[in-house]
Amino acid sequence: MVYLISKTTKLRIDSCYNFTGNPLYLAILKLDFMQKFNLILLIFMSIVTYGPVFSQSGKTTAKIKVLIVDGQNNHEQWPKITYILKQEMEATGLFSVDVARSAYTWEGDEFLDEFAIEGMPKTQALDEPKADPDFSPDFSKYDVVINNFGWNAAPWPEKTQKNLEKYIKKGGGLVVFHAADNSFPKWEAYNKMIGLGGWGDRTEKDGPRVYYNDAGELIRDDSPGNAGAHGPQSEYQIQIRNAEHPITKGMPSIWMHTEDELYNSLRGPAENMEILATAYSDPDNKGTGQHEPALMTLTYGKGRIFHIIMGHADYSVLGVGFLTSMLRGVEWAATGEVTQDIPDDFPTADKSSKWEFKK
Ligand SMILES: [Zn+2]
Repeated sequence: MVYLISKTTKLRIDSCYNFTGNPLYLAILKLDFMQKFNLILLIFMSIVTYGPVFSQSGKTTAKIKVLIVDGQNNHEQWPKITYILKQEMEATGLFSVDVARSAYTWEGDEFLDEFAIEGMPKTQALDEPKADPDFSPDFSKYDVVINNFGWNAAPWPEKTQKNLEKYIKKGGGLVVFHAADNSFPKWEAYNKMIGLGGWGDRTEKDGPRVYYNDAGELIRDDSPGNAGAHGPQSEYQIQIRNAEHPITKGMPSIWMHTEDELYNSLRGPAENMEILATAYSDPDNKGTGQHEPALMTLTYGKGRIFHIIMGHADYSVLGVGFLTSMLRGVEWAATGEVTQDIPDDFPTADKSSKWEFKK
């Protein structure tokens, strides 16, 4: 922004500390009209450019720039879920959120108008997923990308895939939730980023299953089998496995999630991955009898990835446990730190809690 100040103005400001009394004020008094104008413009542009917000500590910080990508997902509420996530993130004052949508959308037609994103170009709803050759968001403008593409989404153009790989390798953040780990089964680097995935013909060829057994041992299971399954939707408990990670720090060691699908038997490379929390997949609910990964962190190059298996429908996403984990995960993927508090209405071991959604 310095280029906005003329050379003489800069000199005056630099030398203003030679004055006694109130040096900055005296220096400003000495500026001519254009110099004053430039100074005001500089201050204004700084505010606009950096969009400062006051965090809880009173410190001025820039907002975290978030990009949600979406457009094709078998979970037909996906436009509403993008809307909810954008709204909840922006309500914290910490995030500014843009959405990049593929020109062709699949499923969710009935939610597109009601939950339209302001400024979004017109999209075309199709009966089958179709690749959008022009889908090419500029990831480099953002601190973190959230993937809300789901099962059966058409692949992104190769150039866009490479751009995301480059962006994450250089230190960008990525968040995947629920059916985002069903998407893009043939994209090798994506499978590495998410660690574990399901469906889309994923099998033992894609990597082991990873889970905790009842003895608390972390198991990597190479035995053959398909990847991805779930029983009927239910509430279920989340058990924290690393209470010191910035995302989980301060959460109760066990908390009840709102109604959702509990994914089991996900498979993938599972490299550079840490399981922060698990959920017990109950055989009485068509589960595996194992403690399945629920919250995970990964690294890919210098990039940070947060992976959460929950988020099937609006009532799952509005769970206080889910939203808190999600928003903390987004902040961590973007910055490596978490400054958000655990809310007072966070669920307990026996009782889930949910936020009301108002448009
Ligand atoms: Zn689902």
